[in-house]
Amino acid sequence: MSSPVHSRRADFPLLAANPGLHYLDSAATSQKPRSVLDAVTHFYETACANPHRGAYELSSKATDVYHDSRARVARFLGVHDADCLILTRGTTESINLVASTWGRANVRAGDEIVVTGLEHHANFVPWQQLAIEAGARLRICEITAEGRLDLDCLRSLLSARTRIVAFNHVSNALGTINPVAEISAMVRSACDALIVCDGAQGAPHLAVDFDSLGVDMYAFSGHKMLAPMGVGALVGRRDILERMPPYQMGGDMIEIVGDETSTWNVLPHKFEAGTPNVGGAVGLAAAVEYLESIGMDEVRRHEQELIALAMRRLSEMPGVTIYGPPAAERSGAVSFNVSDIHPHDLATILDGAGVCIRAGHHCAQPLMRRLGVAATARASFYVYNDERDVDALMGALRNARELFAEAAG
Ligand code: PMP
Repeated sequence: MSSPVHSRRADFPLLAANPGLHYLDSAATSQKPRSVLDAVTHFYETACANPHRGAYELSSKATDVYHDSRARVARFLGVHDADCLILTRGTTESINLVASTWGRANVRAGDEIVVTGLEHHANFVPWQQLAIEAGARLRICEITAEGRLDLDCLRSLLSARTRIVAFNHVSNALGTINPVAEISAMVRSACDALIVCDGAQGAPHLAVDFDSLGVDMYAFSGHKMLAPMGVGALVGRRDILERMPPYQMGGDMIEIVGDETSTWNVLPHKFEAGTPNVGGAVGLAAAVEYLESIGMDEVRRHEQELIALAMRRLSEMPGVTIYGPPAAERSGAVSFNVSDIHPHDLATILDGAGVCIRAGHHCAQPLMRRLGVAATARASFYVYNDERDVDALMGALRNARELFAEAAG
């Protein structure tokens, strides 16, 4: 494989220090390049102060660093109004924010919320619980045999009662890339619902232009796109964000606090109560810079090459079942099972060969039920992987099969 990836691996201290490690779990979290780690350290060494509050220069510096980071991340996602990018702890918090604020204010008994059978629990349970609380009905768009959203099913679920439609950009369990703009257009023509897109697996792997997706809300996590854990964002349309009640109450999000009631600060502060994660924001901006230096088209091309190779080799191995669509319709993840070896056993054996894969329900139990399995093994690729990682995966799988065949024999 091309030399840029070899040198890219050297950019990641954990990978550089462990040459025998084959990290194939980037859908869970990515490794962090030196530039991100350095940017975070640099903030704490040179500009650490609580932003927004102090009259002194160091606090102004922290405020500038925080807002410059937000602007950099907004540009990366084609968000023209950086104040519409709310920094959160990540996708889970972003979706809960929308469910708790817009959801509680707008969903009533008899209304309907549409989700899909392809969702991570973070984009399923908040809507399920909101529906229970409001006396609304949760409708679930089914998936096809190949692990795509069934768009005919989705169309049939949309009605004047639909208040929210929530779906992911890319499935964490199957890697399926959903046609977000097409789905948004379908929803808009059928009803007046809030369109929420879970971009946890979209933003790290695909070029995202918020406006052309046509959604109202887009949530993502920094840690899956080379940034530190504990930072992410919710991008929303200004008119909607302005009408939404605040999420958490406290410092920074208020305008005037009276004895009886209070008024709220402008965007983005209204949704950022308390001391923000400035170090995280700095790390997220550095991560975006790193991805831009590669180019998101190249990120996609590279992952396509690896996923196509991995799927081809997996499909040639006896006893392997692959779930989900063909390689061209996925991001860099593949879920599979090998004969009757439990995925947890598989992952443990692979770990012995330095190959890190994920096993389990991938926080997608509704999807596992639809696939008719309790769990799968999942390998997921990112910018620092290359074909040696695919070789290591295949070699370790072959050994696991032999081990189990011996045990059975
Ligand atoms: N949605 C999807 C599709 C995900 O893959 C994940 C993380 N596995 C989440 C939501 C939740 O993200 P986080 O844990 O970073 O909040």
